[in-house]
Amino acid sequence: MKLSIVYDNEANNGFISDWGFSCSIETGDWHILFDTGASGEILVHNLHRLGIHKEEIDIITLSHKHWDHTGGLRAVLHPGVAVCLPSSFPLSFKKYIAKKAARVVEVSEPKEIVPGVYTTGELRIARLLSEQSLVLKTKGGEGVVVLTGCGHPGLDKILEAAKPFGTLYGVIGGFHGFNKLELLHELEVIVPCHGTIRKNEIMRMYPQKAARCGAGMVLEF
Ligand SMILES: [Zn+2]
Ligand SMILES: [Zn+2]
Repeated sequence: MKLSIVYDNEANNGFISDWGFSCSIETGDWHILFDTGASGEILVHNLHRLGIHKEEIDIITLSHKHWDHTGGLRAVLHPGVAVCLPSSFPLSFKKYIAKKAARVVEVSEPKEIVPGVYTTGELRIARLLSEQSLVLKTKGGEGVVVLTGCGHPGLDKILEAAKPFGTLYGVIGGFHGFNKLELLHELEVIVPCHGTIRKNEIMRMYPQKAARCGAGMVLEF
């Protein structure tokens, strides 16, 4: 499983940083884009820099409806691509996707998306807002890596929701407002991205396990 950070508040040389998040997942059989950042232009620039063209993407999963995760969607939609989103998304948004000949796949319960890739299902944030996170099985059998968007439901809740899929091995993405930093000790790989407020503290607390996130970062599991 190859993960490439496409869009983040920070970026490596040659990539553009911006407030938002997107990550590409290549399983060997499937190519999934998780979230699309805020700007289509920046998303496409960073995708091309990684050597990825939108036509290669089989599935786009959207964590939640905030603009910094959905703003780039228009630039990567193409006929036949499946867009997997929480059922709480507005009807107008689903209709827009269908109009572009893409397939809308609504998520509510936890389930397998493709072999080795699962969704936590919708974790509720507010009455009309929910967020899904992805759970990825490592090839080496270490366990699962959790991929979050903003992380609004609370990272502790997201990790709990991921546990039925395997032993927690890593976590990557936004840890929105997460304060129980000691809970991270059970993980082997910690990559705080996007809007994680206590990023520097996490890096200091887990120097062996934590890595600095940024667009252009590539991880293999
Ligand atoms: Zn958000
Ligand atoms: Zn966000």
